[in-house]
Amino acid sequence: MSLKIEHLVKVYGSQSAVNDISFEARQGEIVGFLGPNGAGKSTTMKIATCYLTATSGKVEVCGYDVEHSAMDVRKNIGYLPEHNPLYLEMYVKEFLEFIGGLYQLKGANLNKRIADVIELVGLSLEQKKKIGQLSKGYRQRVGLAQALIHDPKVLILDEPTTGLDPNQLAEIRAVIKNIGKEKTVVFSTHIMQEVEAICDRVVIINHGKIVNDTPLSSLKQSG
Ligand code: ADP
Ligand code: ADP
Repeated sequence: MSLKIEHLVKVYGSQSAVNDISFEARQGEIVGFLGPNGAGKSTTMKIATCYLTATSGKVEVCGYDVEHSAMDVRKNIGYLPEHNPLYLEMYVKEFLEFIGGLYQLKGANLNKRIADVIELVGLSLEQKKKIGQLSKGYRQRVGLAQALIHDPKVLILDEPTTGLDPNQLAEIRAVIKNIGKEKTVVFSTHIMQEVEAICDRVVIINHGKIVNDTPLSSLKQSG
């Protein structure tokens, strides 16, 4: 199992944000993590990516526990946060070199990874530009490229399609679907249409609890 969450609880001060949730995601599966604002999606994903510690419960990424094996978890997981800080003055390639360096990639190995992710997310024609010169859709591709630079097995995307125009939206969806053929993708969103367009399965969260976990095909049949 690529991502396994068991009885996860997160309390901020006196406020419970995630209240005993469990779900799993397998390789080659795009799982929609659907719920309204404040449901607990970001909190869950920040714990899975080691940006936040759990109050209780267990999260494993490719068999590594986030609490005890954070280094191995980080090697195996890529994360595109909702408010992704991009360096607008940097060139696309320069930025990917910088992020790759954070994962100890260098030399020919780093160049190969950069070429691979640029191809995978469809940035070939824009790679010589500064990030600040790119449209929102292309900046989001840079975000995806950055999350994929170390070739993680699991990719966590937080509202990756919010605010894109219809053309950009269709293109980014296609890129994510393609990535999902090989990797485990968790796609967090508050928009059901996004889940329908991209995901194989949907896990619905509300008030910090899982209220549904079902293949998309069964959801479509029922209504
Ligand atoms: P979502 O990503 O689904 O919008 P979040 O995980 O961001 O939900 O938030 C879940 C709940 O936890 C919300 O009520 C939010 O206000 C609260 N919350 C999130 N981060 C913090 C924090 N750092 N301190 C206190 N409360 C927080
Ligand atoms: P997201 O939209 O990605 O869920 P938010 O915009 O809700 O994130 O939150 C931005 C930052 O503020 C996050 O680090 C989150 O943990 C924190 N935060 C969110 N809600 C609260 C809250 N009620 N009290 C304190 N911090 C919060």
